Amino acid sequence: MHMKTPIYLDYNATTPADKRVLETMLPYFTEKFGNSSSRTHSFGWIAEDAVKTARQQVADLINCLEQEVIFTSGSTEAINLAIKGVWENYQLKGKHIITVKTEHKAVLDTCEILEKKGATITYLNVDREGVIDLQELKNALTPQTILVAIMYANNETGVIQPIKEIADLVHTNNSLFFCDATQVVGKINIDVQEEHIDIMCLSAHKFYGPKGVGALYVRRKDPRVTLSPQIDGGGHERGLRSGTLNVTGIVGLGKACEIAKLDMWDDSARISKLRTRLEQFLCELPNTYINGSTKNRLFNTTNICFQGNRSETIIKKIPNIAVAMGSACTSAIAEPSHVLKAMGLSDEDTYSSIRFSIGKYTTEAEIKETIETVKNAIL
Ligand code: PLP
Repeated sequence: MHMKTPIYLDYNATTPADKRVLETMLPYFTEKFGNSSSRTHSFGWIAEDAVKTARQQVADLINCLEQEVIFTSGSTEAINLAIKGVWENYQLKGKHIITVKTEHKAVLDTCEILEKKGATITYLNVDREGVIDLQELKNALTPQTILVAIMYANNETGVIQPIKEIADLVHTNNSLFFCDATQVVGKINIDVQEEHIDIMCLSAHKFYGPKGVGALYVRRKDPRVTLSPQIDGGGHERGLRSGTLNVTGIVGLGKACEIAKLDMWDDSARISKLRTRLEQFLCELPNTYINGSTKNRLFNTTNICFQGNRSETIIKKIPNIAVAMGSACTSAIAEPSHVLKAMGLSDEDTYSSIRFSIGKYTTEAEIKETIETVKNAIL
């Protein structure tokens, strides 16, 4: 029997590549296959040019210099490079790092490793809306604080933190600000100058680029950030990330950035209408509420608690819709979401929450069908 492809509403987990991204990548697998480090022939030069173009495309999207972009295998690696790099270079100043309980595991696990190596980590709370308390951050900052690691928007709820206010507090204290912007780059406009972010990670597969490629933005001035490599050998990427460059992936990341810069305004307007519609109808169901602030939130994400209904049971009843419970990255483990728990939800309510994340290929008809299907599964 032919099974219909489910409706994909899990764009925060990953996105399909844009056809234009794929087209741009293809020649770099075959005729333009050179190693961008080969300096002695045109195969190398062509690859090097392509990497240079991509680096400029990334820089243009976030408003930084080309030299401030370090290509990595994605956000997880970029996060490791950022946090471990600061830890290794700033211990003369101190051993204190501040982060938040609702960060992605890539940040939390890295901090936990550093804790074992002698770092002191402060884990800030969030309120019921998922937002940090700026006064709590202010109180936590000390002269020994070398780094503050706070994500731009949460992957499970879409809740956006007050980035500019955070950056101001961090810089007044002469600490560095690392921002995990994995869910935001390519969706809303980020300007690392205006928002005064010192280090920031991004990942191509979250905005219609390929998996396994991303970048770390590392500020060169006001202040100049010093990191150290976590992978040695060959000195690629200004010595911060050795290894033959993933030229095809990098070309794809660059193209995804170029497309996002052109399309993000139109896409966000359309997607946010679909999200509003989905929420309006689903929240008509009894004992249903939205997790997290609805004031400052990514336009594509909604995390809904269907009180009294286990998300596992709901998901089994709606096999034609691809959604996530908790976060996609932790759902292999049957633990309640650490994000929702930190927001003060009961275990029962975390187990009854579902994340819907919409993307640029979502249609009105799909949202309509989703509303009907979920309603039928619950009523
Ligand atoms: N940070 C956030 C907020 C994410 O949503 C993800 C996605 O999984 C990551 C980090 C890890 O990114 P990557 O898949 O590029 O390693």
